Amino acid sequence: MTTYLIIHNIGEIDDSLKKAFGKNEENFTTYKTILSIHLDKFKKIVDQLIGKDVVLTFDDAYEGQYEAILYALEKKVRCIAFIATDYVGSNGCKDVPIKQMTWDQIKTIHWKGCKIGSHTQSHPQLIDFTNKQERLITELGYSKEILQGTINDKVTMLAYPYSLVNDAVIQRAVGAGYTMGFTALNEEISDVQSSDVFMIPRFLLTEKTDLSKLGKLRKLKLKTYDDNDYWSKDNASHGMNEKFKVDHLIRGTHITLYNEIRKLKPERILEAGCGTGKNLKSMWILFPDKVLGGFDINPFIIDKAKNNLVASPVALFVSDAKKIKLGDNQVDVVFTNNLLQHISPKNIGKAISELIRVSSKYIIHSESCYFRNLTDAPELDRTYHPSPSFAHDYEKLYKGKGTFKWLIDNRDTQHKYLESVFLVELKGDKIEKN
Ligand SMILES: [Zn+2]
Repeated sequence: MTTYLIIHNIGEIDDSLKKAFGKNEENFTTYKTILSIHLDKFKKIVDQLIGKDVVLTFDDAYEGQYEAILYALEKKVRCIAFIATDYVGSNGCKDVPIKQMTWDQIKTIHWKGCKIGSHTQSHPQLIDFTNKQERLITELGYSKEILQGTINDKVTMLAYPYSLVNDAVIQRAVGAGYTMGFTALNEEISDVQSSDVFMIPRFLLTEKTDLSKLGKLRKLKLKTYDDNDYWSKDNASHGMNEKFKVDHLIRGTHITLYNEIRKLKPERILEAGCGTGKNLKSMWILFPDKVLGGFDINPFIIDKAKNNLVASPVALFVSDAKKIKLGDNQVDVVFTNNLLQHISPKNIGKAISELIRVSSKYIIHSESCYFRNLTDAPELDRTYHPSPSFAHDYEKLYKGKGTFKWLIDNRDTQHKYLESVFLVELKGDKIEKN
């Protein structure tokens, strides 16, 4: 089980800040002595936590957290930042006038792998709203929507301001779509756990935290990802049970994918990793006179594809992309749609060699995730990205195999998981070169 730690302000609190606190000297003392930690000390703590089953959680989005979070992520220590959306980019609130991170900084830490959670909109005591459901809806629901819209990702974790929570708040949190709720414990760091996912305890990290205690925390056991094992199981069919309809024709990357295939005038078209057959159904409508085929590693999904394409002449079969059950040069074009990004770096070379082997002329890919691997923190990543994804250097992988051309190039689109489309025209002597 994971131990969650909580951090507030990071950095110096100097006298200029004392002025900002004004007459509120008690608050200033609290922040200086209990809720602040120097960056140097924080870094020492992070170094103690490498390889531990620990998640650092940051409340209130103080600007000093930005550098600290980047440091922790670089050391592969998992982080969650809980944001009160009203205060982003501001100089803080009346009680705690400390500068907050900007939306750009929040997008950057998210992109580097920090999970983003809600700390409500205006940081109120949520239990005050037990009889004001509309305030609860706003604080929990709108903050979630604002965060999701900004980072283009799901937000399912909530940290209760002041750790004040009751059943009414939890009920609303569930209704708003949260799956985890975090409190804080003012206790020594230990391995206290809670079986209630809406009452997850966190231990305060402060200037006084005893570094020697941290070494005793549990070791992080990373789940190893095996492409075949993961995708051949029935549970890998997430998203595959949705109502089957041919809606692909209206989406940007698919228009490019299909138009390009049309231009290539192939007789035989193969989809590698065809899932439930959505693309192939579109292809069948667009190219009724072509020979169409598709395979997937998952037998359950191929059964679904067969159902979905029951009256069609599309040939469907179970096969591993790293060992395709077809002879050399059997098709004119092979295409993929979000297949390669789920193949681990260990296996990607093998898969591409196989695609090259079975295609006589062309390969087209529509794939995303070009900047970072989403598997560094598998447990947390799975909350957001049910399927592990990898960044591959496709140009390098195809080097010497043919002419490489970007049709849609979204590699520079940071903070978003947009697909790119690229075409490879294979060289005549490609088999020998393998
Ligand atoms: Zn707070």
